[in-house]
Amino acid sequence: MAKDKAFDRVPVALTPWERFEEYLCARGMRKTAQRRILVEYVFNQHDHFDVDTLLARLPRRGQPRHVSRPTVYRTLGEFVDAGLLRKFELDGRSVYEHDYGYPQHDHLHCQRCQRLIEFQSDELLALRDRVAYAHHFRVSGHRLIVTGLCASCWEAPRRRGRRAARGS
Ligand SMILES: [Zn+2]
Ligand SMILES: [Zn+2]
Repeated sequence: MAKDKAFDRVPVALTPWERFEEYLCARGMRKTAQRRILVEYVFNQHDHFDVDTLLARLPRRGQPRHVSRPTVYRTLGEFVDAGLLRKFELDGRSVYEHDYGYPQHDHLHCQRCQRLIEFQSDELLALRDRVAYAHHFRVSGHRLIVTGLCASCWEAPRRRGRRAARGS
């Protein structure tokens, strides 16, 4: 999925793998080669992905370092549980992105080209906190996805229209 803006990472004490090791140790789970491979593939660049895009990036069946679909599903669930990934629903699909070491942000979702544009807004956070305060609500997070059309999707037809009007 196209990524529009990568924010500066926030400093964290541990690498994603170290943090995941802590999580596994605390639960008596094994540090398998497949878990290690998935940490590498998932955390080397920030983007938004679903299970299919991740599987397409991984080595295929029969090749070294292949990870099966059920293992990918299970391990992504563990990453979410460990606070490494954030998961959200987009048009009925589960989409994942980095949570650990990546700042809070929200998304604009283009419904034509599926682009996800990231943005940060202090005003939005202030509004959220005011609303929560009024309801005596303790905030642990929020998710906002604004739907619509990105600039290249809504501007392109307009430009074509203008050209047509000029007769070129
Ligand atoms: Zn678009
Ligand atoms: Zn994002």
